[in-house]
Amino acid sequence: MSQNILVINSGSSSVKFSLFNMQQQIETASGLAERLGSDDAALTVKWPGDQTCQTLTDSAYGTVLKRIIAVLTEQQLLDSLPLVIGHRVVHGGEFFSDPVVITDGVLDRIRQCSPLAPLHNPANLAGIEALAALYPDIPQVAVFDTAFHQSLPAKAFLYAVPYKLYEEQKVRRYGFHGVSHQYVAAEAAARLGISEQHGIISAHLGNGCSACAVANGQSMDTTMGMTPLEGLVMGTRSGDVDPGLHQFLHQQKGWDVETVTDMLNKESGMLGLSGLSNDMRTLEAAASEGAARAQLALEVFCFRLARHIGGLATSLSRLDALVFTGGIGENSRFIRAQVVANLAIFGFALDPVLNAQDGDALGRISAPAGPQVIVVKTKEELMIAQAALALI
Ligand code: ADP
Repeated sequence: MSQNILVINSGSSSVKFSLFNMQQQIETASGLAERLGSDDAALTVKWPGDQTCQTLTDSAYGTVLKRIIAVLTEQQLLDSLPLVIGHRVVHGGEFFSDPVVITDGVLDRIRQCSPLAPLHNPANLAGIEALAALYPDIPQVAVFDTAFHQSLPAKAFLYAVPYKLYEEQKVRRYGFHGVSHQYVAAEAAARLGISEQHGIISAHLGNGCSACAVANGQSMDTTMGMTPLEGLVMGTRSGDVDPGLHQFLHQQKGWDVETVTDMLNKESGMLGLSGLSNDMRTLEAAASEGAARAQLALEVFCFRLARHIGGLATSLSRLDALVFTGGIGENSRFIRAQVVANLAIFGFALDPVLNAQDGDALGRISAPAGPQVIVVKTKEELMIAQAALALI
């Protein structure tokens, strides 16, 4: 029997999954059920060298998850039920600083965190509950996006609002992308030979973007806050704005809180600035052909990221390395070059040849002197699979 572990990320209208063979530490299949709840709901399952795409007539989580397991079995990617199922859960509030085996008590706490992540936690719960009903004998593990940042000191996690709001409503900064920051910082430290003592800043740049200051393996500060809207400029999310913007737009345009929040989440960031796209590849291509607003959007993205990295450095007593990860961090030579140029005051400098080849054998793209800059491919799903295996 193979050591198969299924990793699930259930969203409000999608379920992403990856199947790992842990003996070989490889992903054997992955896929996505998308547009759930609509007439064109579909399931795509990919494995090395092939894929299948099927329509879904029933979008209930239970039916979708059962179908995923059925396809994996039909394609002989699964020879028995998974040993354990690992779930990516967005918000663990102040309850969870590590992955946990899911019990009724854990479910209850995830439910209690739902007001902090109203789009994500209920969907994560629905996926867990559907699988528990289908396969009650398979243990399930929750791995939280917020958990790594539970080490943040109060000075970094408190907002300067009445303290009662923290005590009563748990209004505070939580941070996200924790699985990725924890992995890439540890990986960078290992590659650079500084696993014991280090000060590292990791920049996870995908559709969502966040950066994190890591001291000796612990998160000390991060750019996302109570929700994943705070911090860096992202694909469609604004990142930081003046909190007075809501009142101003209400007065000037009659927008209510939902309208402003929707605009900040879905119509802002690179899409809002460029008026063109949220996709970095598209914007880089447009900018190189002279599109002024795409150029401006790129400039804002890089400047704001560098500005946040400068701020994060104040949490560290030493600065050894900057790590780039996520679709943009791993692939965009242009963004890496601009961000590092904006950080020259910290002694960062790139080796343009190494940057053009996405790093040397270790992923390093920096000049020999000064703090290192390194590209590390994130492995969030594999980390969830490893955490799940470790717990059973
Ligand atoms: P998600 O956060 O959804 O997991 P990814 O980490 O895959 O997203 O990142 C998606 C982003 O990475 C997109 O903006 C995409 O344009 C960008 N990206 C991927 N490849 C490149 C590339 N070669 N150059 C620039 N940007 C890239």
